Amino acid sequence: MSTSQQPKADALVLFGATGDLSKRKLFPALYRMEEHGSLKVPVIGVARSDWSDEGFRQHAHDSIIAAIADAKASVIDALLARLDLVQGDYADPATWTSLCDTLDRHHSQQAVYYMAIPPSSFPIVAQSLATVGLNTRGRIVVEKPFGRDYESAVELNDLLHSVFPEERIFRIDHYLGKESVEDLLVFRFSNTLLEPVWNRNYVRSVQITMSETIGVEGRGNFYDSVGAIRDIMQNHLLQVLSLVAMEPPVGPESSFLQDEKAKVFAAMRPIDPGSMVRGQYVGYRDEPGVAADSTVETFVAARLEIDSWRWAGVPWYVRCGKGLTSAATEVVVEFREPPSLLFDEAGGPEPQRNLVRFRLGKHDGVTFTLQAKTPGQHLDSQNVDVAVDFAAALGERREAYERLLDDALAGLPRRFAREDIVEQTWRVVQPALDTAGPVHPYFRGSWGPSEAERILRGDEWFQPAE
Ligand code: NDP
Repeated sequence: MSTSQQPKADALVLFGATGDLSKRKLFPALYRMEEHGSLKVPVIGVARSDWSDEGFRQHAHDSIIAAIADAKASVIDALLARLDLVQGDYADPATWTSLCDTLDRHHSQQAVYYMAIPPSSFPIVAQSLATVGLNTRGRIVVEKPFGRDYESAVELNDLLHSVFPEERIFRIDHYLGKESVEDLLVFRFSNTLLEPVWNRNYVRSVQITMSETIGVEGRGNFYDSVGAIRDIMQNHLLQVLSLVAMEPPVGPESSFLQDEKAKVFAAMRPIDPGSMVRGQYVGYRDEPGVAADSTVETFVAARLEIDSWRWAGVPWYVRCGKGLTSAATEVVVEFREPPSLLFDEAGGPEPQRNLVRFRLGKHDGVTFTLQAKTPGQHLDSQNVDVAVDFAAALGERREAYERLLDDALAGLPRRFAREDIVEQTWRVVQPALDTAGPVHPYFRGSWGPSEAERILRGDEWFQPAE
């Protein structure tokens, strides 16, 4: 499987340019690219809405203003000048003739085709690209969801492979574009301090929390067909887990990185439904678009195991959900306790376990919870936090969608998800879909149903610091 850099793109084709994703994420990202000077190609929207080029530009303008309060008029104008709209239904051959004409007018030989469209439209768009021969002159960017389960993920990969080779399929999981998530890799492998203790000899447990305070926010219809396992756990959560668990890649090439991730999932046992708890916030069934008797989970917690020499026996506690106490994305690595004889003298508290807490959401950074001497006569210790806030230390960093769009245009595959890894993650969560079990109610503003304590077997959840 070749993973070398692809040729640079000379056009960006945005299928679904009038949709929600384009509005909230892609146009703001394109604005930032224009501002930073990295956007150098025409942007051709393709959608069904009966808009003029002018109407399309106005929509892009409004999307940017809504997302970026201090957007500069000169940057917006420069971006709008790159925009064209090909209007038409994907099922209509005239749409494709018109797209080919527009690409020819721009002398495009290597386009990026971005699928910001419902999964139900993937087949018609992929096949039509092949029918008019555009699949031979570019690559495709696919948004999650990559299937609904293992079987449909394999089917989707087969469909995409019938039109594009794997190295020209870029699957976006926007967590992989976050600086803080990529830092997991750098922090682990560029600090000699950490790597020797990053294994089952020293690590007692690992916890990953992805929590939101918001509910379904008007997207009840969408969410009720998905749930927390499909929406977060199978993709964002497991991708983050793989960066914490993997062996060091031998080099920066995409294939080395992807190979190490694949090994993590190959060594991961499928979820044991007995070590999983699903929850649903009280009031979810009253949300517009949600079935009155819905059993879809808005929370899931599970205990995972990686049966490798590095991790065998270490529990990986993961949870994600909506309507929780605080919004956070955190990884907490808990180390084993030190011997305590030295501290027995005065009968004081035993030293607590060290923690490394990676904060991956807002205010991202790392906190080490260490032991230091409690002032006084005795050799007692207490927790002290040694923390770094990355924005303060390193300055503001670019948003995930900007970085990913930049990579897609530059032809860099490293931050995208490879087919086998997507399929492996579905294999891991499949028992959770097949044998879901009951869904436990919880109140909004809590940390989910109390049943989630059960999977910890006497341990405790480390609540996020944010
Ligand atoms: P929307 O329903 O808001 O937008 C769909 C877009 O596809 C519209 O531009 C629509 O055009 C176009 N479209 C659909 N069918 C046709 C057709 N037959 N012919 C021409 N155009 C068509 O979807 P989203 O933007 O929310 O989502 C797009 C993709 O991104 C989905 O796969 C979704 O799962 C994924 N995603 C979305 C996120 C989000 O925050 N919205 C987050 C992560 C992933 P028109 O409106 O003009 O008819």
